[in-house]
Amino acid sequence: MKREETFNFAAGPSTMPRSVLEKAASELLNYRGTGMSVMEMSHRSAAFQEIFDRAKASLKELLRVPDSHEILLLQGGATLQFAAVPMNLLAGGEADYAVTGRFSGRAAEEAKKYGSVHFAADTSSTGHDRIPKQSELILSPGAKYFYYCANNTIYGTEWHYDPETACPLVCDMSSDILTRPVDFSRFALVYAGAQKNMAPAGLTVVIVDKSLVGRELPETPELMSYKAMVQSDSMLNTPPCWCIYMLSLMLDWVRETGGVEAMEKRKMQRAALLYDVLDDSRLFRPHARREDRSFMNVTFSTGSKALDAAFVEGAEERGLLCVKGHKSAGGMRASLYNAMPLEGAEKLADYMREFERKHV
Ligand code: PMP
Repeated sequence: MKREETFNFAAGPSTMPRSVLEKAASELLNYRGTGMSVMEMSHRSAAFQEIFDRAKASLKELLRVPDSHEILLLQGGATLQFAAVPMNLLAGGEADYAVTGRFSGRAAEEAKKYGSVHFAADTSSTGHDRIPKQSELILSPGAKYFYYCANNTIYGTEWHYDPETACPLVCDMSSDILTRPVDFSRFALVYAGAQKNMAPAGLTVVIVDKSLVGRELPETPELMSYKAMVQSDSMLNTPPCWCIYMLSLMLDWVRETGGVEAMEKRKMQRAALLYDVLDDSRLFRPHARREDRSFMNVTFSTGSKALDAAFVEGAEERGLLCVKGHKSAGGMRASLYNAMPLEGAEKLADYMREFERKHV
């Protein structure tokens, strides 16, 4: 199958803009006259330092990260942050966790090892098909932070508001960072695995309020200490150099495409194409409740395992790749991250209509 004939709806690692991959390919063997690839370059070299500084500066500019917050470029995936957050910010105290999917559930379980966890919400009883309203959140008075996952990649639900809480917010934005403007001054910490909207897998972006670092448990590994990482500018050890380089190219692309506001507009347009089909459908059932549905991950099924499998197979034949749902949710999932062109969503919407005509 030719790349030009495909659209990749994978949930992460996921599609990247062709121009970004071409730029990386053109610089692969000899990065800007250095005589070597970025993969072969010392992370202490001037050439890499320039890549690193550019990636950080672009993130700060595009996300409008305030000076009060530090940007860290780390390893370990979003999953390592499930532990790093409580080790650094909870340290024996209590925190509120809103469990609206698999990843926030795992984060809450991990946090229990380092302090006490209060469940501010839990949507598991309805299969994580919704997001709690502000009035439903049960907030504990002494909480050190309120934790939530802004976009539930598996279930296809999304918080369309930032919770109002007395304590600062901690948020997993792995699947929606760089897709909408965010007021980071309200957040103690935001983190995101890069492999959906930012870079290849292997890099985690952490944006942390500098006034909150330095309170970690004494047994916190050095590599998980925000203080140590802030002090070393994320270079306590060898950073994920190639991923940081790819991040810098991706951020150039986001800037050239119109920045975060343009990303938000594009994501609404893409998602509307698929939700319009689902809203009219007599075959497909959306997983998420209408008011809480995600603009990044559209989840749906036919209610029949055999038909779902036929849909996925037919999609692959048409070059519409990776639309099978996550095993814990079943059905289908179309991930529409920043790099997905509108045409990809159009093609998938056309195929959904065609499939429905054939099977209803
Ligand atoms: N949080 C969210 C919202 C995710 O979608 C994922 C992965 N898909 C994770 C956390 C875990 O990320 P990682 O694999 O980078 O540890």
